[in-house]
Formats: sequence, C-alpha cells, structure tokens
Amino acid sequence: MLVRTHGINQRLTKKELRDATKFMSGLLMSKRLCKNITIHIYSVEGPPILDGSKCKAYMIPWDSRPHRSFRIYIDSTRNKREQLHTLGHEITHVKQYAKGEVKDITNVLAIWKNEEHSLECEKDKIDYFFRPWEVESFGYERGLYKKYIQHVKRRNKK
Ligand SMILES: [Zn+2]
Repeated sequence: MLVRTHGINQRLTKKELRDATKFMSGLLMSKRLCKNITIHIYSVEGPPILDGSKCKAYMIPWDSRPHRSFRIYIDSTRNKREQLHTLGHEITHVKQYAKGEVKDITNVLAIWKNEEHSLECEKDKIDYFFRPWEVESFGYERGLYKKYIQHVKRRNKK
C-alpha cells in the first residue's frame, strides 16, 4: 500500500498518518487488496469543502473502477483523536469502493451492495446518517480508532 501525505498537520505527524492509514486498512481489507491501493492524504487547515458544504473530512476515488487510488481530505485543525476517528471513517469508505460495495454515488442515487438507494427521498440532513455505508463507517470509525490506539500502546511497550 502506498500512502502519501500532503499539507501541514500539527497534530499528526506524516509517519502517524501513514501508520494509522496502513494499520486501519489492514483491518478492513485483505493483504492482497491493500497491496494494490494508493491513498493520498491531504491535511487541510479548516474544514474541507465538498459540494459546497463544510465537512470534517471526505474521500474521493481517483480512478475508474475497480477503484485502487483514493484521496482523503482531512481537517487538520481538529484534535488528534477526532482526526484519527475521521481517518477510520474515510478508510471504511475506501474499503467500500475498493471492494465494489459502493458504486456510483450521485446526488440522487447510490448503488450499495448491488441495490439502488434513492437519495431523492431524503428529507433533511439527518437522513445522511441512515445511509447504510455511513452507518458502517460510523460504526467502524470507533473500532478502528480503538484498535489503532491499542496497537500503538503495545508497540511502544516493546
Ligand atoms: Zn461518511
């Protein structure tokens, strides 16, 4: 797996970002899949903007299917814990694209595990939390964060 970091991040070193990205990816994807993946991480001072709205972070695939190249934009002004949570969230989305679980998200439609999900029926911003790929990402982000912290603690003991 190739991880490249860009921009200045005062709360996470380049090495930490790289290590966390590789470690978390390894929990969600096979070794074989990880080997073929490239992730560029952009630390942005302040909230990255996607489709006109501010967010903590976002991820976009940077190639055509099967997706193997990704860009993650992350708000580097947030504290370390928040950034690592967010990183876990976005890496879960990377997994979803790399495995082809999510396809073709547009403003009106998404394909999740070969089923169409209309986004037009969403009435307000809260509906975002009901999207199955977001449910998965919000679930995994906590687990990935905790596993990573455990991994760092164990490594530092040695
Ligand atoms: Zn998300």
